Amino acid sequence: MSKIDGTNVAFEIKEQLKNDVEENFYAKNRNAPKLVVIIVGDDPASQVYVAGKAKACAQVGIASQIFRMEKNTKEREVAKLIRQLNKDNTVDGILLQLPVPKHIDAQKMIDLISPKKDVDGLTKTNLGKLLSNDNSGLFGCTPSGIITLLKYYKVDLAGKDVVIINRSLLVGKPLALMFLNENSTVTICHSKTKNLKEKTLKADIVVVAIGKKKFLTADMVKDGSIVIDVGINRDEISKKLCGDVDYDKLYEKCELITPVPGGVGPMTITTLLQNTYKTALKKYEVKEKVSFSHKS
Ligand code: NAP
Repeated sequence: MSKIDGTNVAFEIKEQLKNDVEENFYAKNRNAPKLVVIIVGDDPASQVYVAGKAKACAQVGIASQIFRMEKNTKEREVAKLIRQLNKDNTVDGILLQLPVPKHIDAQKMIDLISPKKDVDGLTKTNLGKLLSNDNSGLFGCTPSGIITLLKYYKVDLAGKDVVIINRSLLVGKPLALMFLNENSTVTICHSKTKNLKEKTLKADIVVVAIGKKKFLTADMVKDGSIVIDVGINRDEISKKLCGDVDYDKLYEKCELITPVPGGVGPMTITTLLQNTYKTALKKYEVKEKVSFSHKS
């Protein structure tokens, strides 16, 4: 039994990224990679997440800008801003903070983001690339972060039986494809799944992301399994953050388990930084290719 230390893995990746940003941008007098976050409305949790993203950007030398829009902002105004940012060559990554108010169609807005700047990996173009195992795309931060964590802990994913309890576009569906691309055997479960326990008991790896405190109990997993807790909940009594897993009881049974906080969360933000760096670097590589071909 061992805890997966997402905070430490994220720290190591960020240290490397900081060096890479220094070497490939500041030392070469290039503009720093830049992330723009659009937030519509005043959802308190979103405000905290957005502040966390800006802070993480600063830690590695990535520039960030937050566009705050009123709760009653019209969809066409959000669309207009996204189109402007697509054209702005100083912007490398665009992220629409979710959830957006109900009168705004989130997927419609996301699909307006240039796939090259879609650092959340949520446009249909990038989801399609994931589906076809085309690594030129940008992929979802939470699912990518989970795969990075498992690889860091040297988990051989090929042939593993994986159960994912979540089928959202943000977590479950892209994660299932990522596991498939790693040759795992994947079962996706959701609120209409029958006999969930029967499935989780057979799994080598269980990922749970439903947003219900202590949903995954010790009797639902086999000895030596690996458990990834994506859920974020607040305990009503202690007011502390907690996940979807009965952590103390599962810890004894599992080979590896992620805590909340300090598991998947830090990896989500770190992947966002990696994606922003990646898009910025690509922009310069393309520019250099073009100027080289003009010279030759
Ligand atoms: P979501 O869109 O609401 O998806 C929740 C999923 O859980 C759905 O697929 C739902 O099934 C399933 N579900 C709900 N109750 C269930 C039950 N009793 N049995 C089996 N499945 C059940 O939420 P989300 O955006 O994917 O986020 C899920 C959780 O992960 C939230 O707690 C969120 O805060 C957290 N999260 C954390 C991070 C991070 O970085 N740590 C990132 C993203 C999300 P149906 O499809 O049938 O409704």
